[in-house]
Amino acid sequence: MKEPESLLQQYFGHAAFRIGQKKAIDAILSGKDVLAVMPTGAGKSVCYQISALLLPGVTIVVSPLISLMKDQVEALHQVGIPAAYVNSSITSEEFYATMQGIQYGQYKLLYVAPERLMTEGFLRVAQRIPISMVAVDEAHCVSQWGQDFRQSYLDIPVFLSQLQKRPICTAFTATATAQVERDIARFLQLRQPETIKTGFDRKNLFFGVRTPRNKMEELLGILQENHGKSGIVYCATRKSVEEVCMALCENGYAATRYHAGLSDRERARNQEDFLYDRKTVMVATNAFGMGIDKSNVSFVVHYNMPKDLESYYQEAGRAGRDGEPAQCILLYSGRDVRTNTFLIERSQEAAEIEDEDLRESLIAKSKERLKQMTFYATSTTCLRQRLLRYFGESAPDSCDNCSCCQTNYQKTDITLEAKKIISCVYRAQKAGYHLSRTMTANVLGGSKRDVIQQMHLDSLSTYGILQDLSQREIGAMIEELVRQECLILRDFHEYQELTLTPKAAAVIRDEKTITWRVPIIKKEKQIAKQHPDYEMPPEDAALFQELRALRKKLSEREGVPPFFIFSDATLRDMCRKRPINLHEMRQVAGVGVIKAQKYGRQFLGILRNHTSKSSE
Ligand code: ADP
Repeated sequence: MKEPESLLQQYFGHAAFRIGQKKAIDAILSGKDVLAVMPTGAGKSVCYQISALLLPGVTIVVSPLISLMKDQVEALHQVGIPAAYVNSSITSEEFYATMQGIQYGQYKLLYVAPERLMTEGFLRVAQRIPISMVAVDEAHCVSQWGQDFRQSYLDIPVFLSQLQKRPICTAFTATATAQVERDIARFLQLRQPETIKTGFDRKNLFFGVRTPRNKMEELLGILQENHGKSGIVYCATRKSVEEVCMALCENGYAATRYHAGLSDRERARNQEDFLYDRKTVMVATNAFGMGIDKSNVSFVVHYNMPKDLESYYQEAGRAGRDGEPAQCILLYSGRDVRTNTFLIERSQEAAEIEDEDLRESLIAKSKERLKQMTFYATSTTCLRQRLLRYFGESAPDSCDNCSCCQTNYQKTDITLEAKKIISCVYRAQKAGYHLSRTMTANVLGGSKRDVIQQMHLDSLSTYGILQDLSQREIGAMIEELVRQECLILRDFHEYQELTLTPKAAAVIRDEKTITWRVPIIKKEKQIAKQHPDYEMPPEDAALFQELRALRKKLSEREGVPPFFIFSDATLRDMCRKRPINLHEMRQVAGVGVIKAQKYGRQFLGILRNHTSKSSE
């Protein structure tokens, strides 16, 4: 039997397994179930793909990413691994052809949507073929605590129980808190699984939060810093995708868009434009990106705050999959919290759940996750530490590679201001008002808005008692009091009102002081810590561009995205190693046997040309 390492080298051109991969494969090959929690980009798919090649029979991969199965299977064909998929996008003829192929042993891997498992046509075939493993991708979908609960994932153990012999069952996810992890093992009925957890940290990613007055200006600034690089801008709604995309195009950026309101055709075309590097910026809702393995995404900007840290880390994690330094920047404003609360309450998935208690509990959990997300967005301490702790990992106090660690803060006592804010909330409530954050800030700042006078809020004794501060400063202090849990937000009709907690009383009674950290100097450094080989010598940079141009030409000719041919990291390694023959080409990271045969000579042509030109 071949060794896993030699298959990794032969098919994928990778020299060694990464942390966790080997352990997962060894466990699978010894017949054990596996639960692997590894961050995006860690290389989860390799674990089940290499195992599938070594196991007899077929491996079924359950994946919720219907729109991307085709690409995943295509990427396997590129490296010479026989695979197929069945989901709702294929015709019944295609389905029967695939089912026939699987019975003749034509495929090692079969990707299936979870809804398909228990259908009669599929189950009948599955009961007849030798299935060695069922690999569950995005396994957190089985848990109601996870951010993408999918009812059909609960069919997986039922499916397993219907097979003649229960195969090995493996579960993979990038985001799992302790609760989700327990749910995965329980609901998938894993049998004494080998649990593999690699660290969540993605060292090459810079995490930043900015609270700009004008998000569009800020975004344009970020794009300018990242000129010519590929990036994704996530927006909360279709409408803001439209607006942001249009503004970027007007400013001369090659931007395209993606959201559920576009036709299938346009979505596919825009996605392809981005994958093929014809457009450098993708503006999208969270409908875009699940399973997208575009390796050279250099920045992910969130124009709006997402609903939870699970979504944030997953979306931001689409940057820098090639291991190169990349930026993940969140543009935050208080309004994002309101939009998300609204979306949670009206979520389609929640509405479809008939059991009222279950629905209520799902909504409450979503709101708790939103609170944690908001704490991240308003944090003044290390962002990476916040993320890692949220996912149950310990982390040092400072990473030196996030906007908080790169900002100097001064501790300021704001107990006096806090008392004024708290008494304003108290007095307003006593007078029968239900004030939002903005209205409270308006009253404290002595705003002259008509609505203040119409509601007689200017007659409150706390009206104007913080008039020396700007609305923005008062707003930030209110946020701080929410963060320190002196105030909480409670739903009231269509908005949220501020109310007091016992901690507020402690402040008024002088039993508690409030300090906050105010930024004093913002250092310029915003790029991820320099990767040792990030700065290419100019000589290599020119060669790199030539190699990219060839890759683009080949990708157009074959109708596959450029990174399906070679990743940027592979092209960089070519510049560094300068192979002169196919044997040396195989030493380049990411060049497997099939790809070396298919593309090696053409890339060698450019490398040789370049070397002889520069030695002339
Ligand atoms: P995940 O599913 O965990 O997000 P992928 O399986 O898509 O990650 O892998 C991410 C990237 O890492 C891919 O480009 C893949 O080719 C690369 N990769 C995976 N394993 C290795 C390895 N052992 N050495 C180098 N690169 C690897």
